[in-house]
Amino acid sequence: MTGVLAAATVAVPDRDGVALHEPGWLALERGRVVDAGPGTAKGALHLDGVVLAPGFVDLQVNGIADVDFAAADPDGWRRAGRLLLGHGVTSYCPTIVSSPLGTYGPTLERIAAARADAAQRGLPAIAGAHLEGPFLGGAPGAHPPELLREAQPEWLSALLDGDPDIVRIVTLAPEADHNLAATRLLVSRGVVVSLGHSTATYDEAIAAADAGARGVTHLFNAMSPLHHREPGLVGAALDDDRLTPTLIADLVHVHPVALRLAIACKRNIALITDAVAVESGAVGGIALSEGDGAARLADGTLAGSLLTMDGAVRNLVAIGVPLVRALEMASSVPARVLHTDDFGDCGLGGRADLVALEPTTLAVRAVWIEGVQLRGPEVWT
Ligand code: ZN
Repeated sequence: MTGVLAAATVAVPDRDGVALHEPGWLALERGRVVDAGPGTAKGALHLDGVVLAPGFVDLQVNGIADVDFAAADPDGWRRAGRLLLGHGVTSYCPTIVSSPLGTYGPTLERIAAARADAAQRGLPAIAGAHLEGPFLGGAPGAHPPELLREAQPEWLSALLDGDPDIVRIVTLAPEADHNLAATRLLVSRGVVVSLGHSTATYDEAIAAADAGARGVTHLFNAMSPLHHREPGLVGAALDDDRLTPTLIADLVHVHPVALRLAIACKRNIALITDAVAVESGAVGGIALSEGDGAARLADGTLAGSLLTMDGAVRNLVAIGVPLVRALEMASSVPARVLHTDDFGDCGLGGRADLVALEPTTLAVRAVWIEGVQLRGPEVWT
């Protein structure tokens, strides 16, 4: 649409995250946000009392309902896209857990086809694949140990040559990356390196950041705990501004106190779901069972979540995190990890990917992708 949307609360990206205008407005033109401000605007379409925010960006999602992204067919991708849209997600990184090396090429081809299809159908944008493994270290979690290996820069280089744009994030462990050669290669090819499933020391984590690593995958989970004489990857993630850690805020993977401490520590922390297709019973061939609000292996090891991005925002607000922080952790902070204003950033000039939330329940009321309303009351279109 071209026009002005006004709401009781409007979250507008600023330099560090988002700022709230109460009330506020956004001006849209040809699918982009061209202006924004506090107060009221002439000729605006008033969206009642909603919270209008940038659409959510999920940097790590393995699947949803019965759709496992490692094995999804075209119908499955569309079903998953519609389900994600209903949770306020306007762009995401389908995530593939450690797999045999020969499977990555075909999987990435399917993701590239799904990305093109999603762009045509008004489904959430696929920002690129997130490969979690197989170059993991001393904390494999649910990843099958027999699939883990030392990083192989030549193999990665050949994989990226196949389609230079489809891999967006690689989670690896610095201790599995000899001389950090894979980290340097990925960074030189524009891929975000996120450190995880690792028992790296603080010094090893900082060396990886010096080599260009910029993320820390699901902070606290599958890494050495913070120790006051060996702060490890957790300490590096919270202390070094170059690193953006991600958090699984399902209140199972991380205790609310640890969530609040991390969020109090630094501004650039992103929410992820790490959701798995629990109805399909598998993530990338690993068998799952459902318990206590999370997915687990038969031995009880956590193997992904049943979380949604809107649910993660609600959980943070429920444990006392200010709404403005929860919203930026779900949108502008993860968008910035992807080095682009194209996804989830309704800053000036950015795509008008937006979500409207009920003010008290924070339930998703409407969603826009590139200024086109795809969910919500018809009166708003
Ligand atoms: Zn993981």
